[in-house]
Amino acid sequence: MKKPFADIVCAHCEKLLARADVDRDTHVPPPEELLVSGAVPVPNFGWFCSQECATRYEQAKGRRMFDRNADGEVQYYPKP
Ligand SMILES: [Zn+2]
Repeated sequence: MKKPFADIVCAHCEKLLARADVDRDTHVPPPEELLVSGAVPVPNFGWFCSQECATRYEQAKGRRMFDRNADGEVQYYPKP
């Protein structure tokens, strides 16, 4: 899902979502908290800071790229 030890940034707006804590082999804040805050992880791709950025990314690419749930949200993992 993500490279170890790399900062997590939004794939669209490049906002920094979490810093890599190399010593502890984790991210600050941890991915669990990013999920709660509304950030969107996409397997083998990366993160978006929000559903809005995921949608804008697709619009910029001009095609549908991500699976969406019944609510139209990009969702690959159960909501916390
Ligand atoms: Zn974003």
